[in-house]
Amino acid sequence: MFYLSTRNEKIRKNPSEAILQGIADDGGLFMPDSFENAQFPMNALSSMTAKEISAKVLALLFAGDGMFTDDESGSTEFWKAVSRAYDGKFDGGDFAPLAKVGDAYVMELYHGPTCAFKDVALQVLPQLVKEAKRVTGMTDEIVILTATSGDTGSAALSGFSDVDGIKIIVFYPEHGTSAVQERQMVSCDGKNTCVCAVRGNFDDAQSGVKNIFASIKLPKGVRLSSANSINIGRLAPQVAYYFKAYRDLLKNEEIKMGDKVNFIVPTGNFGDILAGYFAKKMGLPVGKLVCASNENKVLTEFFETGTYNKNRVFKITKSPSMDILISSNLERLLYLVCGAEKCAKYMNDLKEKGEYTLEKDELDKIRAEFEAGTTDDKVTLETIKRVYEQNGYLMDTHTAVAWDVYEKWLKESGNKDKSVVLSTASAYKFSASVLDAIGESYDDEFDALTKLEAISKVKVPSALDGIKNKKAVHSNILNKEDMLSFVSEMIGKKEWRK
Ligand SMILES: *Cc1c(COP(=O)(O)O)cnc(C)c1O
Repeated sequence: MFYLSTRNEKIRKNPSEAILQGIADDGGLFMPDSFENAQFPMNALSSMTAKEISAKVLALLFAGDGMFTDDESGSTEFWKAVSRAYDGKFDGGDFAPLAKVGDAYVMELYHGPTCAFKDVALQVLPQLVKEAKRVTGMTDEIVILTATSGDTGSAALSGFSDVDGIKIIVFYPEHGTSAVQERQMVSCDGKNTCVCAVRGNFDDAQSGVKNIFASIKLPKGVRLSSANSINIGRLAPQVAYYFKAYRDLLKNEEIKMGDKVNFIVPTGNFGDILAGYFAKKMGLPVGKLVCASNENKVLTEFFETGTYNKNRVFKITKSPSMDILISSNLERLLYLVCGAEKCAKYMNDLKEKGEYTLEKDELDKIRAEFEAGTTDDKVTLETIKRVYEQNGYLMDTHTAVAWDVYEKWLKESGNKDKSVVLSTASAYKFSASVLDAIGESYDDEFDALTKLEAISKVKVPSALDGIKNKKAVHSNILNKEDMLSFVSEMIGKKEWRK
């Protein structure tokens, strides 16, 4: 497999190079040169374990340059890497259990070390980066730069903390995360970690990071990389849980092999839902992929009209991990639908004018596979309450956005296939909003955790137990103009923390 830039197919890298680099030299994102050689053995799916599925997906996507050199039977070395990444990290042991709620299934991706779905990928990414360094013989120190709206930061810190030869700097919008999310990040005491608030919103932090990638002058022996879902090493592990959900539905006799399954995905940067599209390209019988957005509904409008327009007021919502105006991974879908040249043009339009419009046939192709919908904060909270009262199931705000979009879409389309709604965060991670939704009071976000435990009778996840008393060890706050010089300065320092 080779990886090509979405903006210029002449830029061509081995999988390990694509992982180490994060983003292509021309600012494009890396994409597999073809999915033809990455077809999943569907006839073996129902007898595979979850970790075997993950290993197989990684082996298919990263075959060819000797990473975890594969053996005849499939993917033993990848399996070992997945085991190192996952064993003992997920409450209950399953990284993607399905819960039946009404007529649909909720895929709970939040049982990992930071209680959001990003753990599923970010526990694996350090394994991939280390292996990519080995394969390429690269000895540079890698500095991971990441912008986060809350969940990526803590998940990346958890994955990379104290990993040899790698440092990590996380930027988050000063008032753009929950208190629990912020505490998870600033209490991370790994010696190789640096956490920094930015005065601005997520897009400010993200464009600041992109700017650093484009303009920083690095000393010899240091390389930058990314833990955002622009890194293909972050996207690939997410593809696995779509296959795993399908296997579980087969086991539960909800479907027969070959039946289509819809996936409804709470969407921000378009990484998670794009992983579902990768799964489809790799042979999974996916029906519709439904893109659920909050009031920052750039994507909903894009799927309706073909115009992507980021020139609008950024809203801070109760599902902050989806508060995004530039969904970076959409570029990968554009590349698949329109080709590199058009993709480069659209991305340039987006940069210069803040918008672009697809040709009609391009939009038609996308609409054959994707649906989209949006929900506001009020309905999000009503949805949490309604589902709790009707089904005794408590979901977080992000999942509730997807649930409401699912119900509206189902009613409108009359679709008869099975549907899986992706649950991207634990209700505990956003416990204040969840208690607001069901009409319960609390003193602060930390008190809300205890309160939610009493009401829901679901135990506080081990990751959040005692978070209130965790000490903040990072206290940096910056203007976005100062991010570049801050990173240069940090890179110059030998030791970050004792
Ligand atoms: C990151 C995140 C999302 C959005 O996922 P994308 O891959 O960025 O689309 C949704 N929900 C939660 C809880 C998240 O942390």
